[in-house]
Amino acid sequence: MKPTLVLVGRPNVGKSTLFNRLTRTRDAIVADIPGLTRDRHYGHGKIGLKPYLVVDTGGFEPVVKSGILHAMARQTLQAVDEADVVLFVVDGRKGLAPHDKIIAEQLRKTGRKILLVVNKTEGMQTSIITSEFHELGLGDPCAVSALHGDHIADLIDLALADYP
Ligand code: GDP
Ligand code: MG
Repeated sequence: MKPTLVLVGRPNVGKSTLFNRLTRTRDAIVADIPGLTRDRHYGHGKIGLKPYLVVDTGGFEPVVKSGILHAMARQTLQAVDEADVVLFVVDGRKGLAPHDKIIAEQLRKTGRKILLVVNKTEGMQTSIITSEFHELGLGDPCAVSALHGDHIADLIDLALADYP
């Protein structure tokens, strides 16, 4: 069975861009419009001989209780249920956002394996960016740039460490 990696995070943190990197496709819709990817989106990837499945999700907005944003949150939680590893993506340029803490709390409750991914870190000193995210209590963050492709292989290795 291929392990399933599910991308979760606030709108616009770069989930779809990371999906494209992890699947080497342009399948996911990448845009400046927050929350454009409304549905789950599946893709296949492989590192070395290890295959994996990647799921892109729409924006995770647990505070909004009605309308389309609520539907997206439900979809996201369903996807998380199918996850072997949740890649919780945050924005290294914007820094730690209040919603990141709410999402971290919800994810912790699911009992899934969570890997904290600090994206958009190209040209930044990673030790400084990642230190503020330790507050989320999810361990050592993995700093990447989905746009530039920095540290993507390291991220996949970490995510698949428990899988032969
Ligand atoms: P999503 O809403 O989380 O799926 O985010 P998207 O993948 O659609 O990306 C939102 C915006 O962030 C787009 O303009 C991307 O080009 C940009 N972006 C994504 N990854 C990076 C990155 O590593 N560095 C920078 N500087 N921008 C990025
Ligand atoms: Mg998206």
